[in-house]
Amino acid sequence: MSGILVTGGAGFIGSNFIRHIIDKTTETIVNLDALTYAGSRENNKTVECKTNYVFIHGDITDSELLNKIFKEHKITSVVNFAAESHVDRSIQDPTAFLRTNVLGTQILMDAAKEAWQAEDGRYKEGTRFLQISTDEVYGSIEEGKFTEESNIQPNSPYSASKAAADMLALSYHKTYGFPVLITRCGNNYGENQYPEKLIPLMVKRAIDNKPLPVYGDGQQVRDWIHVEDHCRAIALVLKKGTIGEVYNVGGDTEVTNMTIVKAILNITDKPESLIQHVEDRLGHDRRYAVDHKKITEELGWEPKVNFKEALEVVVRWYM
Ligand code: NAD
Repeated sequence: MSGILVTGGAGFIGSNFIRHIIDKTTETIVNLDALTYAGSRENNKTVECKTNYVFIHGDITDSELLNKIFKEHKITSVVNFAAESHVDRSIQDPTAFLRTNVLGTQILMDAAKEAWQAEDGRYKEGTRFLQISTDEVYGSIEEGKFTEESNIQPNSPYSASKAAADMLALSYHKTYGFPVLITRCGNNYGENQYPEKLIPLMVKRAIDNKPLPVYGDGQQVRDWIHVEDHCRAIALVLKKGTIGEVYNVGGDTEVTNMTIVKAILNITDKPESLIQHVEDRLGHDRRYAVDHKKITEELGWEPKVNFKEALEVVVRWYM
């Protein structure tokens, strides 16, 4: 039986993705996670009992361990979620971001290449490497939406490290014929997110009756997408996407940070006087927006979850 290697599967999106596919496949799902502050095996508790699930505590920069995993579990697909993912932390200290997001991706691709490529340069049939990227690599846009052809113009150490990994992945395709695909998604919301990110952080502070810190005027716009919609897109691109291509994944839900904070206060039944404007984040991008026409036309994907209804469910889950 072949296996799918999911890296960073104890984090927010990775854990939701494993839950999304575990019963839809007979392949072994190998979750490789370093369990940094952002990862927790609690996030995988609903899948621990599945016979096709294996958890391995380890790092994507450990090539010896990777070689062993590819062999032992006959890995034919990789979905690389493993990353340092918090912009504020990347501004404080970019080192870990470069190490995991860039170097880690390179080491992981080398291990896959080693396991999949024959001496004649061809790759084993059906092998695929999906790099999970972000709309933040395009930078900020005032009007319109970024397409897959738009320039890469990242503005934070986090998005620069993700952009570097994307460029590296595409260079592996061009140079070695490596079977890579990339998805670039907007801001996810859903269960299992570490409470440093906007929604779980604000819920926690509201419940504790503490001030809700809002950067600058709070008018920054993000394109929100439910994690379940993102996971459907990932599964589809992994199976049917064209090798060497990039797919934008957007939620068609542009909302300001302030609107989300007010909605959270409303759901938690707390006063708006808890809102506290704080100094804006350095280099803060004003607006993200991606055009998802390509994945919609080629693969028939579109976002389904209604933001307003799902936000309430998610906020109540964190409560
Ligand atoms: P997360 O921070 O919740 O999870 C990251 C996981 O990776 C954690 O479980 C952590 O322990 C693990 N990890 C970190 N370094 C590792 C290493 N060196 N080796 C192995 N495991 C390691 O992140 P997330 O929000 O689930 O994001 C997952 C991916 O999706 C990231 O690549 C991120 O850039 C991308 N993404 C996130 C969003 C979003 O809104 N959260 C949007 C678009 C793209």
